[in-house]
Amino acid sequence: MSMSVAAPQAKGKCAEDNIFAANNRANALAEKIGVDKVTNGTVGSLLDEDGNLVMLDVVQKSYKALTPKEIVSYAPIQGYPDYLEAVIDQCFGESRPDGYIRACATSGGSGVLHHVIHNYSEWGDDVLTSDWHWGAYNSMCIDNGRKLREFELLDEKDQFNFASFKEHVTNMVSKQYNTVIIMNSPANNPTGFALTEEDWDHVLAFLQNIIKDKDKNIILVSDVAYLDYSGEKHECRKFFKKFGNLPANLLVIVSYTLSKGFTMYGQRIGAMIGITSNADVAKEFVDVNQYTSRATWSNSNSAAMKAMVNICKDPERIVELDAERAKYFQLMKERAAIFMTEAASAELKILPYLSGFFITIPMTNSKAVCDIMERQNIFLVPLKKGIRLAVCSVSKKKITGLAALIKAAITEA
Ligand code: PLP
Repeated sequence: MSMSVAAPQAKGKCAEDNIFAANNRANALAEKIGVDKVTNGTVGSLLDEDGNLVMLDVVQKSYKALTPKEIVSYAPIQGYPDYLEAVIDQCFGESRPDGYIRACATSGGSGVLHHVIHNYSEWGDDVLTSDWHWGAYNSMCIDNGRKLREFELLDEKDQFNFASFKEHVTNMVSKQYNTVIIMNSPANNPTGFALTEEDWDHVLAFLQNIIKDKDKNIILVSDVAYLDYSGEKHECRKFFKKFGNLPANLLVIVSYTLSKGFTMYGQRIGAMIGITSNADVAKEFVDVNQYTSRATWSNSNSAAMKAMVNICKDPERIVELDAERAKYFQLMKERAAIFMTEAASAELKILPYLSGFFITIPMTNSKAVCDIMERQNIFLVPLKKGIRLAVCSVSKKKITGLAALIKAAITEA
């Protein structure tokens, strides 16, 4: 037995991230045999057709123009007021919901999820998300003494599985004071799935009804990490309007991040945006979350906030930003189209992809299939129930032919 001095609740924790592990193997091999001979479909960042990490031009320019003070200052714990305004505006666009809207700066979307779990669920509670979800949700719950619970995202027709959602929420509400639900839509990681307008209507009507006249609350987290690459700017934001005029015991918190939309991944900046019809809930939202920021990472990255603000206060730069995003949205759409067309010809089943950084191929023996692919210098991410392919990072040239190879590997495995 190895020596351990960690406190009892921390013993045995080990962040073995199979995404980063596969990425490291891919990079090591690329260094040895050449980048052009390796397909790295593991990376969750936008790469251009030559395999270079994209940093949007408009964002690069904004960073370069920052003053020393903007870079190194301690920012207010809640975030600069102009940053908070810019975040709300960038997030909702034309579809700003009615109600009290408050924002707090966080360390990316991860920071939002941490604060929601920490402040809106209790020790020992279940937190609900879909079976197809980003793996970090799980660690965030476990590290805070909560348990991640899963409803089935898709039904047998590959549509939103409302029945499964309903069943889990009903059970949780019967047992818990607060029910925290994380819904990663649109551009769900790892599937690329999104709820339709009607799905959202059903979800919100049901949630309102189940806690009506009860001393219970629902906190619905709308994780929109990939929003800016999920469709036409105004169209993909329409569902936000539905978050207005909800009862006071149904709080919506949007998990907003600059990681993807501004390509600021490592800069660690985002915001939690609370939407409520109740002034007390709005005040409490800022109070408790600001407190937790102070108690964890203190204030957020000044340079990253200012780089964003300086873009957002200039209409010309916003036009530039939108055009760059549209270009990369289009690029990912083209990559995904190649893969999906070929998957259909190869009779390779994929989950319903609409937009976003990833496509999922469902299967039970994903590890064995990924191992076979790796022998052909192709690196993909094995998940519990499938394989994740990053269309954000694999070029059109390299994605061509991939579906048939995966199909062959499945047959071989
Ligand atoms: N939510 C989902 C579904 C994600 O995939 C990610 C990043 O990969 C995030 C949130 C948050 O990322 P960050 O903390 O970099 O903003």
